[in-house]
Amino acid sequence: MTTPAPPHNRAPLMSLDDAMVSLLAHAEPLQSTDRVSTFDADGRVLAQDLVSALQVPPNDNSSMDGYALRAADVTEIGRVLPVTQRIAAGHAGEPLEPGTCARIFTGAPMPAGADAVVMQEDTVEVGGNIHGVHIQVMPQPGQWVRRAGEDVTRGAVVLARGERLSPASLGLAASLGLAHLSVVARPRVALFSTGDELVMPGDVPPEAMKAGNIYNSNRFFLRALLHRMGCEVSDLGIVPDNRAATLAALKTAADHHDLILTSGGVSVGEEDHIKPAVQQLGSLDLWQIAMKPGKPFAYGTVKRGAGADLAATETCHFIGLPGNPVSSFVTFLLLVRPFLLRLQGVNAVAVQATTLPAHFTLSKADKRREFLRVRRNAAGGLDLFPNQSSGVLTSVAWGDGLVDNPAGSTIAHGDAVSFISFADLLA
Ligand code: AMP
Ligand code: MG
Repeated sequence: MTTPAPPHNRAPLMSLDDAMVSLLAHAEPLQSTDRVSTFDADGRVLAQDLVSALQVPPNDNSSMDGYALRAADVTEIGRVLPVTQRIAAGHAGEPLEPGTCARIFTGAPMPAGADAVVMQEDTVEVGGNIHGVHIQVMPQPGQWVRRAGEDVTRGAVVLARGERLSPASLGLAASLGLAHLSVVARPRVALFSTGDELVMPGDVPPEAMKAGNIYNSNRFFLRALLHRMGCEVSDLGIVPDNRAATLAALKTAADHHDLILTSGGVSVGEEDHIKPAVQQLGSLDLWQIAMKPGKPFAYGTVKRGAGADLAATETCHFIGLPGNPVSSFVTFLLLVRPFLLRLQGVNAVAVQATTLPAHFTLSKADKRREFLRVRRNAAGGLDLFPNQSSGVLTSVAWGDGLVDNPAGSTIAHGDAVSFISFADLLA
């Protein structure tokens, strides 16, 4: 008996991990940088290490409102010390005479000689001709004192090149006196959709849609996802389904962008103009990735400089996402997101999965690694969206993450599964 030849569209599938390695191998970090106000740097990626030119805090200072003193001067509880000075935040005091104390406020520098603060709740003011306080506790040296440099030491690398800035890191940079930061340029991405069935919302009202037409939904979430990833987006809309228009769009886009991202038309054997056009202007690899949703995926390059110039060496990246909305969304998160982070010089591009109990069953195992749309419930488990079809965008809008289910695995109620949160992916 002879084994029938496999149909021509059944190329061996590539694992998602291998696809990721191949894709990241092309993602050389962008060289250009921007100098931006620290106020505007949230989400940007540092192009240089931030090295502290000072220590933070700059001086020993009080962490309480109270009295600064020498701990050794309080030989017994109830000891009265005269108050010889008053030091508020932003003002420097005088050296502290032995046997005396200073009224001090939170953040005020410790006077020379003082080694501890007694909080005002542990004191009683003494009236009369001397202004003094009863100290009601035995102070320990160092108590309620914030040490100079306890947050940041001079010369320390506080944030490293390749780190993505968060609101907290902007505050930290500001604490070092940095009003501007050098960050990696935003990736310039040209986005377009393909498919003769696509209609833009607003162009045709729902009641007038022709049979076979659908609204272009991918364009909306892809543009928003690109913005979340810190990209500058040129939205080229729906490129007409003919060779000349596709070539023209690719050529113009390649000259001015780092990445051309398209959706639709990368399935095997599909009649479309993207594949031959990219091949004509550069190179294209079509991958069949062993994942569900999202099997078809394309990576290529488009030469810059009128495109057809064979001597042109500079190229623009090309990524073709599948057209099915859920496949497009999921492959963006799992493959395009790390690619864009790497273009911005981020090293740690993998997302952390957490283990949670499945509050559902999956009785039918798939041959491919599956990414199920799920939602966390109040009982600490995960619920499964009932329709996992790659065309059902409701599953993504309803869900708050994905279960990464290995190929060939069923899931029983209560099984520990690997959960990837959308919030983490989009942070
Ligand atoms: P394709 O990958 O082009 O074969 O498309 C696969 C499926 O996704 C088809 O049902 C298309 O109609 C649909 N599709 C392609 N592009 C879009 C889009 N931009 N918005 C919504 N659905 C799309
Ligand atoms: Mg199509």
